[in-house]
Amino acid sequence: MNFDEIITLDKADPLAKKRLEFDLPADTIYLDGNSLGALPKSVKPRVAEVISQQWGNDLIKSWNSHNWIDLPIQVGEKIAPIIGAAQGQVICCDSISVNLFKVLCSALKLNSERTVVLSTKDNFPTDLYMVQGLSDLLGAGSCQLEIVEEQDIQQNLTRSVAVLLLTQVNFRTGMLLDMAKLTQIAHDKGILVIWDLAHSAGALPVELDNSKADFAVGCGYKYLNGGPGSPAFLYVAKRHQVTVKQPLCGWMGHANPFAFDPNYVPSHDINQFQCGTPSVISMSALDAALDVWQDVDMLQIRTKSETLADTFIALIKMNPCLHELTLCSPDVAQLRGSQLAFSHDAAFAICQALIAKGVIADFRAPNILRFGFTPLYTSFEDIWRAVAILVNIVESEQYKEPRFSITLKVT
Ligand SMILES: *Cc1c(COP(=O)(O)O)cnc(C)c1O
Repeated sequence: MNFDEIITLDKADPLAKKRLEFDLPADTIYLDGNSLGALPKSVKPRVAEVISQQWGNDLIKSWNSHNWIDLPIQVGEKIAPIIGAAQGQVICCDSISVNLFKVLCSALKLNSERTVVLSTKDNFPTDLYMVQGLSDLLGAGSCQLEIVEEQDIQQNLTRSVAVLLLTQVNFRTGMLLDMAKLTQIAHDKGILVIWDLAHSAGALPVELDNSKADFAVGCGYKYLNGGPGSPAFLYVAKRHQVTVKQPLCGWMGHANPFAFDPNYVPSHDINQFQCGTPSVISMSALDAALDVWQDVDMLQIRTKSETLADTFIALIKMNPCLHELTLCSPDVAQLRGSQLAFSHDAAFAICQALIAKGVIADFRAPNILRFGFTPLYTSFEDIWRAVAILVNIVESEQYKEPRFSITLKVT
């Protein structure tokens, strides 16, 4: 692998022009779009418009005149094709954690003969915490968390499990679970399935409908580029929407919120999963950010993501000084999401040294250096330059400088 080959890959890349739709700092190689997506150029003017014209001038009229009230559905419908969902099943609201609470309760209620929520030990902690909190609230007689290793999921799908809660792409290792297969096996045992798409929505083709998923949740601020704290989304399969009942009975989920009825009557569509007033400014940012996906083919995203990561691995292998970085992600591209994890005893310091030199990666405790590949705005040249900087940091042992070991609140 040489620089000419890298340039050839960029020249042949059908997504290369998409980078122009993002505002990226000139001195930065951004390999952390899996944690906070970069800023699409369309967002700034939209947010400025929402603040000065819609809020500043049109004030409360904007709920109707600028359709603020429909944003959760409108944004949900823009996310739907990215995650393989037909219309009427996705809504944008709240955070993943809150949405997990809603769908967990819903699923447990639909499967009320059973009490076990099965998940994986290595799931993102908030997913496990939300089940623990629910178990505390309802009592272990109604909700019990059982966690197993990723490779043991299948053998633990028994008739005592109510809900299988899985994150499709492991946040640390990037390991990709087989959504269609696991959903099918779970359904055969009468288990409902919730998929967390935090690291898959926008990273690879997701097939919620084709996999017959029951529920899903996902993030607006990672691969969907909605900005820090961007609202999340949730998916409820059409077949469940009439019978399902979620417990956060806010007025926005009422069948007729502006009737101001003292009794709660749930909306019998996806709207039931809203709770309170939508966060208009940040949801507008996400709405604008989603326009970059309009002409994007998810198979092209997948192909480029696999090639970016394979190229990164090949360049790492070419450099003997990087042999202490151990790949913790599957080495077969088809078994991963769009990120790579490497373990190293000095992962934190290496990460800080990289950031100081303009290569943004992140560190995940205890010893993982994580690189995210966002096909919309990462080039092959970025990968080449990032590895060159990494080689320099490791070879020179610069990462051993004390300033790179200062602990930070957010990693
Ligand atoms: C990032 C992430 C979350 C974030 O949850 P929030 O409540 O939106 O902060 C949840 N689950 C997974 C798997 C994640 O990677």
